[in-house]
Amino acid sequence: MISENLNRIYNCIRKAAFKSGRNPDEIKLVAVTKTVDVDKINQAIDCGITAIGENRVQELIKKYPLINKEVEWHLIGHLQTNKVKYIIDKVNLIHSVDSIKLMEEINKRAKDKGRIMDILVEVNISGEASKFGIKPEDLFKFLKEASQYSNINVKGLMTIAPYCIDPEETRPYFKEMKRLFDEASQLDIHNVKMVYLSMGMSNDFEIAIEEGANIIRIGTALFGQRL
Ligand SMILES: *Cc1c(COP(=O)(O)O)cnc(C)c1O
Repeated sequence: MISENLNRIYNCIRKAAFKSGRNPDEIKLVAVTKTVDVDKINQAIDCGITAIGENRVQELIKKYPLINKEVEWHLIGHLQTNKVKYIIDKVNLIHSVDSIKLMEEINKRAKDKGRIMDILVEVNISGEASKFGIKPEDLFKFLKEASQYSNINVKGLMTIAPYCIDPEETRPYFKEMKRLFDEASQLDIHNVKMVYLSMGMSNDFEIAIEEGANIIRIGTALFGQRL
């Protein structure tokens, strides 16, 4: 079932990429494994999944020692400052950096471990009160402040679009994110390089790809409805 779902997703990725004149190979699929058991995660990795995304620290550290296969770990959910220490030597990319305080803590913990941590800045593009992320108008100031944290590499931006029954309605949000991403690409800051634009989930990833996403985060469409 996972392999069929994965094939269906790959087909959609290809279609959306071609539709917008992009190369499907440059789009990275992160399999969102929250609430998914270790067996299924292993199956997904055997089917070719190379990156998994967890949204909760507790769940990530529980599963981490149980997955013995080569895979990237991404933290995609809200991260509390006091939990950074648990994941700093486990994850390849943190998608959800949304405060200077958090960036400072990640930098400190990364320095202790002698590593450079790759992060994305989460932007609350819709302005919904229920969503995490910095305000679009604060982005450039935030990126400039990042320059003082030598054990952090800012690799791009992340967002969660509002849920819409008709995914077409998410398009303006993704368009605006791409505009911010392109604008941020012009900045000349030693540790800020706009490489990844992480946006698009099961319901809206095709639209996100059409608008320029190069990381999509897929749970339900791959593993089925979460319990
Ligand atoms: C759960 C989650 C996803 C995946 O959502 P689906 O709709 O199941 O694909 C993506 N990003 C984040 C941050 C999530 O928490």
